[in-house]
Amino acid sequence: MKTFPPLRKIALTLLIIVLLPALFYSIYELKSLNENEKMIGEIYRQQLETILFSINQYSWDVADSWVSRIDAALRESPGEALQNRLEGFVANNRAVQAVFLADSAMASLRFFVLPESNPESRQLPEDLRSALQNQKNLPEQLKRYRQAGYRKIEPVVVTTARNPDHQSVALLFALGDFAKDLPFRIAGLVLEPNNFINQVLAPKLEEVAGEQFYLAVYHGEERQAIYPAGGEVSGDAEQTKLLWLFPRFSLGIYPRGETIAELARSRSRWNLAFILLLDALLIAGVWFVYRNVRREVDLAQMKSDFVSNISHELRTPLSLIRMFSETLEMGRVRSEEKKQEYYKIIGQETERLTHLVNNILNFSRIEAGRKEYHFSNVNLNEIAGKVLDNYQFHLKNEGFALETDFDSALPTVKADAEAVSESLINLLDNAVKYSDKEKYVCIRTGREDGAVYVEVEDHGIGIAVEHRQKIFEKFYRVSGALVHNTKGSGLGLSLVKHIMDAHQGRVVLESQPGKGSRFRLVFRSELK
Ligand code: ADP
Repeated sequence: MKTFPPLRKIALTLLIIVLLPALFYSIYELKSLNENEKMIGEIYRQQLETILFSINQYSWDVADSWVSRIDAALRESPGEALQNRLEGFVANNRAVQAVFLADSAMASLRFFVLPESNPESRQLPEDLRSALQNQKNLPEQLKRYRQAGYRKIEPVVVTTARNPDHQSVALLFALGDFAKDLPFRIAGLVLEPNNFINQVLAPKLEEVAGEQFYLAVYHGEERQAIYPAGGEVSGDAEQTKLLWLFPRFSLGIYPRGETIAELARSRSRWNLAFILLLDALLIAGVWFVYRNVRREVDLAQMKSDFVSNISHELRTPLSLIRMFSETLEMGRVRSEEKKQEYYKIIGQETERLTHLVNNILNFSRIEAGRKEYHFSNVNLNEIAGKVLDNYQFHLKNEGFALETDFDSALPTVKADAEAVSESLINLLDNAVKYSDKEKYVCIRTGREDGAVYVEVEDHGIGIAVEHRQKIFEKFYRVSGALVHNTKGSGLGLSLVKHIMDAHQGRVVLESQPGKGSRFRLVFRSELK
């Protein structure tokens, strides 16, 4: 079947108006999905950063409030009272290891409070002294800030000599004007990081973490978890940040359950799957539309072939009938024998014409769903015999060798005799039309597995495998030299198929291209 140019146009149109926009849209969506995911990830990262920042800010605020209290105590309570006040303060805040004053040269130190419970604390004055040795310029700087009205706090790391892994932090600030007459210009407090983290920071971490996060504090390069003790959290933190107060410590934050970034990722994945599914559906839809259109176009082509073929088929018998009847009418035929022959030809051609018209009528009835069947008990041998009576002459005339092989013990079947005859005529007609060199037809009846059959065999051109199903579709004709030259409507086999379906039977086709075909109509011997 040749492809209509409109088909290519339709395919192109579908491609341009449906598939291309869908493709562009998909690419655009995929790109923006990626960007959305990145953006959400970035927002999430900033959120985590803000949380860590707020914790740092909180620790600093606590330290700042302690500095304020020490500053106030130094200003307000001279002598004995000061010592008591500071002792009380340190006793209540275990994170504070010591409170001290220093002179401008950082050379002489005065400790107010110094818990002596552990060896590290006992060594603290020495450790602090050596830490401050390197900060000679600090007092001057802090003093200048204080004079300008701002009490700046400067952290100095104090490494414990006996255990270099342990570091405290001294927070230094300049004393105000009230200390003009004192030998000391600088005050400070020493913070013990582990205590600070566990007592001051821990409750805050709990509060900030809430339902959404886990927070952890690590020590050192190798990130050993100090809080929560024993490191309850596993895996890598989503984000980490150094603690401002204790430079060897860092904060880590972990999401509980799915993170927003993960959510965004999984949503992106779903969206991606959805887009791909949509695309697949669209492609399937376009293919479906295209296939239907192609079918319609093919059908239109077949219909137009049908009209031209049918007109030709009608014309041939009509002209024969006309020719012979005119010859007879003019009385030119003298011999009775010839006359009889002409009458017979006229009769046969009328028969063919009737058959052709019947085919068309049956087809239109079937199409309209109005075809009726009248079932009765029939013997296939009888039906085949009657068909042959009418057809024999035609076969012989065409030079066919006819063979019959009827099963004499054939049981009757419930069938519409007329419809079965029509089917057989169609099969015989095809056997004649599609035989080339070897003109042979055999009609056979028989039994198989409780069913009864009648079949027509020829030694004609045969049917290739790829056409064996399609030839039972309406208007379908195999393209080939012989078929092309042989006129036909493409209706015959579709009628046969329809008739056999109505009988709850089947058509079995065996064929070898170049060798011949055998169409077997199989009836169930007892209809339900
Ligand atoms: P038509 O014979 O009018 O074309 P049919 O529906 O009877 O229509 O047959 C459909 C097609 O099947 C034919 O065009 C032909 O190509 C093929 N065909 C049918 N019967 C035979 C046969 N006995 N041998 C070879 N080809 C056949």
